[in-house]
Amino acid sequence: MENRDRIIKILAYDGRVSIICASTTTLVEKARKIHDLSPVATAALGRTLTVASMMAVNMKNEKDKLTIQIKGNGPLGGMVVVANNFPKLKGYVANPLVDLPLKNGKLDVGGALGKEGYLNIIKDIGLKDPYIGMVPLVSGEIAEDFASYFATSEQTNTAVNLGVLVDKNGVKASGGYIVTPMPDATEDDLFILENRIKEAKPLSQMLDENMSLLDIAKDLTGDEKAQVIEENIIPLYECDCSREKIEKGLISLGKEELKDIVNTQVKIETVCHFCNEKYVFTKEELENILKELK
Ligand SMILES: [Zn+2]
Repeated sequence: MENRDRIIKILAYDGRVSIICASTTTLVEKARKIHDLSPVATAALGRTLTVASMMAVNMKNEKDKLTIQIKGNGPLGGMVVVANNFPKLKGYVANPLVDLPLKNGKLDVGGALGKEGYLNIIKDIGLKDPYIGMVPLVSGEIAEDFASYFATSEQTNTAVNLGVLVDKNGVKASGGYIVTPMPDATEDDLFILENRIKEAKPLSQMLDENMSLLDIAKDLTGDEKAQVIEENIIPLYECDCSREKIEKGLISLGKEELKDIVNTQVKIETVCHFCNEKYVFTKEELENILKELK
């Protein structure tokens, strides 16, 4: 399948409103395949990957890292998504096989994740301490939960919409948008915007009709002169795990614990949560790591 995933940044109303739109069909389908996700788990992780991809492109530097942890009281358990500003993303859910009946004809993401729980956002932008923002879940439907995060932590009246369409073949369409009024947005801007977003076609329908991201932004704002600031950003699902990193993890256990492993086990096997890559270390290899620690 050709990768048509894109993210664009747009300014509307002469720069008083910022819009980020993303199409993430290929990315979310890759996540679905890696984790063998059920439809509702695909929607939950897909929405979170999509919002993360849009938040990630607003980070400044290549080394900046965004980590999203969501924990709910529903059968999905929770999930983790990590993104850099490229953006390359990876994620997993606690229970990928959750299956729930449709709710009003839609995948019941709120039922899978649960309404009780929290959304935790960690931004590591190279400062001594990372920025951490935590809010309680609102509905477990993801978009509303992130809107609550933006309102609480970043004090912006941000509109978030996320959609993942799943059919029997997998992810049919996936995407989202984030609309943020700038400090100089007027009352009129906000009023018009709020009404247009309310009356816009459902996002899933826009995605299904293959509307371009720019057309979606114009449709939401009604601003034909909306200006594209950045386009052709391609979000990718890509894990950055390596044998070297796992080895570092083993070293960080400390000498005593490693000795213990060498003495009691024939080999160790670890599986990367994000991509399911398996890493095996034999007794000899562990002994060699231990020798180098002296
Ligand atoms: Zn991995």
